[in-house]
Amino acid sequence: MLRSIEITTVVVLTQSPFHNPHWGDTLELSLDCFICQRGGRTTTVVLGAERAVCSGDDRTPEHYTAARIAAFDHTRERGRSSLRAVVDHWWAPFHDAKRDQPATALTRTPWVRLHLGYHCPDQQKSGRFHIQTNEIRPVSSSCEHCAVPLVESREAPGIRSLT
Ligand SMILES: [Zn+2]
Ligand SMILES: [Zn+2]
Repeated sequence: MLRSIEITTVVVLTQSPFHNPHWGDTLELSLDCFICQRGGRTTTVVLGAERAVCSGDDRTPEHYTAARIAAFDHTRERGRSSLRAVVDHWWAPFHDAKRDQPATALTRTPWVRLHLGYHCPDQQKSGRFHIQTNEIRPVSSSCEHCAVPLVESREAPGIRSLT
């Protein structure tokens, strides 16, 4: 059955105007995968792609799976940048034999990693960094070229099932 997962996050722009941090078009999300029959697989989803890649496990190599980004909306106001993404994926019940657990439509311990890119005006180079669910917050990210602070993540991204 088709399931939709909503991911929402907000970061504080600590040095916004100059490096222009922006959300990257790729995200990684943990999903219970009916193809390799394992729970909590890291699944890479790219905006505009009609399929995603599941990382598989030690017996199944990475493989395509039915997931895509259905919505990707970002806004910037009052020194904050927000992102709301919806990932549609095909889910079917199965039993993870290795963990001896039934699969769930929203995996047991949802996890997401979101990427951000920027351009350093000082060094005329681009860079990127990511934020993810399982970090001790607040997390600060700085420019890898000139060390200026770029964003601060104060709350973990929200992940919930819409269907
Ligand atoms: Zn898989
Ligand atoms: Zn810089």
